[in-house]
This record gives sequence, structure tokens and C-alpha cells, in this order.
Amino acid sequence: MQLKLGPQVPSSGVAENFLGVDWVEALDLGAVTVLTGADRGKYPHGNSLLVQGTHQNVLIDPSLTVAERGLSFPVDHALLSHVHEDHLPGLSRLPGVPVHCHEADAIGLTSLDGLMTMYGMPADMEKEFRQEILDDFYYAPQLEFSTFSDSEVFDLGGVEIEVVHTPGHTRGHCVFVIPQARTAYLGDIELSGFGPYYFDEWSSLDEFEKSIERCRSLDADHFVTFHHKWVISGREQFLAMLGDFANVIVNRELSMLEFLGEPRSLDECAAHRFVYRPHVEMKFVDHVELRSARLHLDRMVGDSRVTQMPDGKFRSR
Ligand SMILES: [Zn+2]
Repeated sequence: MQLKLGPQVPSSGVAENFLGVDWVEALDLGAVTVLTGADRGKYPHGNSLLVQGTHQNVLIDPSLTVAERGLSFPVDHALLSHVHEDHLPGLSRLPGVPVHCHEADAIGLTSLDGLMTMYGMPADMEKEFRQEILDDFYYAPQLEFSTFSDSEVFDLGGVEIEVVHTPGHTRGHCVFVIPQARTAYLGDIELSGFGPYYFDEWSSLDEFEKSIERCRSLDADHFVTFHHKWVISGREQFLAMLGDFANVIVNRELSMLEFLGEPRSLDECAAHRFVYRPHVEMKFVDHVELRSARLHLDRMVGDSRVTQMPDGKFRSR
């Protein structure tokens, strides 16, 4: 697919030798440049990726750091790995630049209400988060944007971006592969010790696991995460980290099974904490633990590892 310039976008006039990227802590990987976020991309910041072809420059996941620092070089298109508050604040610095996301996440770009349906928070938490998204992440509905689907290829002139649909974190989460730079951009498949985040209304535990499996076949030498790990160079290292990342889910479930050696209620499972450590105090922890406990219990009841007793409590078989 050829990316077309929006009519309102001034042509960047980018030539073969455009390399004028002025960014503190940029990492040059050839056709791609990692625009390292503040704190190495620690939330609420993140690491954006600039992809430069002979005809087009594409910015993937314009971070909060992009919003705060601005850009000194032209961007023709913005691509989003998924629609979450921290992956789009930099769009505020790209007025008129065409935005693209996977079709399954499109609702998050249309309105704040649409975005909130993707999180599915309890009302009191949602109220506060709405304001944060507006004030701290510069959210504005996109009046015009385009969607893409799995396996689509964007041709930037001598450099391509391939879409790999990897749902689980959100329904439309995607990884991008840039073959000419031997680079894969992993978005929120962040390879952290915390493990996969599948606790939104639009998340899916099973889909996340399938997506991790799919990532094993990514053909690249450099792997960029939006948060946490930043850049992993070397396939072996990546595969080892991907394995550890997937194992966090397995270990959460094994710990729950052990805990369910005695009958426990859903609330008791949530209170025991299988996601966050006991000392972590954040306002959304209880919500995440409850959703996680419910997801894993549903799955383990479904495949008969756990049984639900007449009093509503759960117990491992
Ligand atoms: Zn996310």
C-alpha cells in the first residue's frame, strides 16, 4: 500500500539523504530511529519510532515525550500500535498529519467515550481517568483517520512497514516490522518482568498468548518496546525474553491453583494479589486484580482445573 499525503499536509520534500533527526538519546538503526522517551520510555512516557523512506517519514506511537519536546523534522504519517492514552499524545504536535491505526481499535480515536469503552473501568475510576487523558495526554478526537489490517504493507520509498496483528493487550494491537532495518516494533508487548497486561475490557488473555506465540517468528535483529526494555538487539536474547514474558501468565495461574487448594471466593483471590506485589499502592490495583482473578478463574473452570462449589467459592481439582 502506498501512503498518500493528506491534502493539508505540507510536503516534507524528503530526499534520500534526509537524516536530520535532532533528538536527545536517539538511537539510529538505519532506516529507523528510536526516539527514546523520557526515563527510557517509562510510563507515562514511551519510545517512539521514526521510519524514513525516500518519499515518506512515518512516526510510530507519538509519545508524551514527543508532545512535550516537539519535533524538529517533518513527519508525513503517524501509525499507532494500538489506541491507548500514552501512545498518542504526540499527535498534538502533528496537526493535519494523517493518522492510521488497526481497524479494531478505531473507536478509541473517534471520541473519548469510545476510548473509555476500551478500558471498561468502574465509574469512579473512569471519571478521574477521563480528566487525566485530556489534561496529561492531550487527547483530542481524530476527525479523520485511516485503518489498516493484518499483513498490510506501507511503502515509504525503499523502506517498508509490515503490519502484524497481535491482539490481546487491545483488540487492535499490532507489531510493526521494518525489514530494511531488521527491526520489529513491539508496542506494548513490552517484555517486562511485570508480564503481559490484559486487564482492560478489550484485552484477552488467550489472544495475548497467541500473539506472543506469533512474535516468535518475527524476522528481525532489533526489537523495540514502547516501555521498559527499550531496544533488544539479537534474536536469541529476544526469544529468551519473550519466553520469560509468556511465563509470567503461566506462573500467575500456577500460583492461583495452589492458592485454590482451599476453597476461595473471587474477592479472596483478588485480595491475595497475583498481579501486583503486596506493597504496591496504586488506585487501579484492586480493579486489575479483580479482573485478572476473574479471567483466570473463568479459564480454569472452563478447562476443569478448577471447580466452583455450591457456595460460590472456587477450588482446584
Ligand atoms: Zn497500551
